Amino acid sequence: MIRSLAKDVDAMSKDWSKLLKFFSHVETVTGVCPECHEQTMLISIVSDYYRCTSCGEDIKQYVNGSIKYFALDDKDKQWLKENPSSE
Ligand SMILES: [Zn+2]
Repeated sequence: MIRSLAKDVDAMSKDWSKLLKFFSHVETVTGVCPECHEQTMLISIVSDYYRCTSCGEDIKQYVNGSIKYFALDDKDKQWLKENPSSE
């Protein structure tokens, strides 16, 4: 019993370090999500594309003097499918 618990903890700590590794490699920004309109943390998934940590939607960064975020259109969604994250 104790042995199997130790195994679980070991597996968890492995996942945790994986998670930390993941977060140390991703670029995060704060911005207003166009989907849920929350000021939230956005995780860079690929260049110019971000994922909202509040609602989970993928959005696009658009820089034109100021930085804005837009919901993805069908073309963007297709592009993301063809160009998945480099991970
Ligand atoms: Zn959102």
